[in-house]
Amino acid sequence: KASSTAGCQLPRYVRVNLLKNTVEDVIDYFKREDYTYLGQATSVADLKHLGRKQFIGDLHLPELLVFHPKIDLHEHFLYTAGHIILQDKASCLPAHLLNPPTGSHVIDACAAPGNKTSHLAAILCNKGKLFAFDLDTKRLSTMGTLLLRAGVTCHELANQDFLLVDPSNPKYQNVKYILLDPSCSGSGIVNRLNQLTDDETSSSRPRLLALASFQCKALNHALSFPGVERVIYSTCSIHREENEDVVEEILQQHGNRIRCCIGDC
Ligand code: SAM
Repeated sequence: KASSTAGCQLPRYVRVNLLKNTVEDVIDYFKREDYTYLGQATSVADLKHLGRKQFIGDLHLPELLVFHPKIDLHEHFLYTAGHIILQDKASCLPAHLLNPPTGSHVIDACAAPGNKTSHLAAILCNKGKLFAFDLDTKRLSTMGTLLLRAGVTCHELANQDFLLVDPSNPKYQNVKYILLDPSCSGSGIVNRLNQLTDDETSSSRPRLLALASFQCKALNHALSFPGVERVIYSTCSIHREENEDVVEEILQQHGNRIRCCIGDC
């Protein structure tokens, strides 16, 4: 998910919540606040030289706007009213790549606090069904607030262990798309001071292997849903134990039954 950006700060990414507004209207809103819109970026270099009152459209995701790293929009009306979501680009890629068609049935297996769920709902235009699971009650309650603010209505939230969700339940027979963003070491999370949050204890070999074991189980479980056609597996880890090794293990188990695309996000 993250790459080391020593010496340069990560820009502030703003995802326009298409359930509540359009990219054009959000751009106009910021322009009225004296920001200058520089158009669509044409290279990564364009993102590096933004002034504090400038912003630009992302290179890949049309609903993503990019601001100066020091801009804080947490108190901004568009954020508090759910018109924009403050979500880094790496975190937007899983839902963008899963790209479920409007009206389809989707599972978000480890969903809280729900930024990817709200992104999926926007891609679905709130049509279809979005089954979201998480084990953590507190994170789920935060997620309820976030989804309400974002205007998400196509979801069904469950405080449930995804590993115990029954794939043969008729309720899930039309699920073709699954997003799996499981618990991980978090070693690839870049904080706003541009340090990776990796440390020796959280990334000890036994811990990574324990996480990888859960990640493999969860990915296998996702692939066991009878109608599934596309699964996106993402982590916030920079360790191959939690990424390539997990995918390779699953490919070995499933052989030709699945085709894999490993993205360098
Ligand atoms: N996808 C979320 C988002 O974009 O906001 C972040 C998910 S976070 C990386 C991983 C989540 O998995 C945590 O909220 C954790 O409580 C949940 N989790 C861990 N084990 C789980 C399980 N067996 N079943 C369901 N959720 C689980």
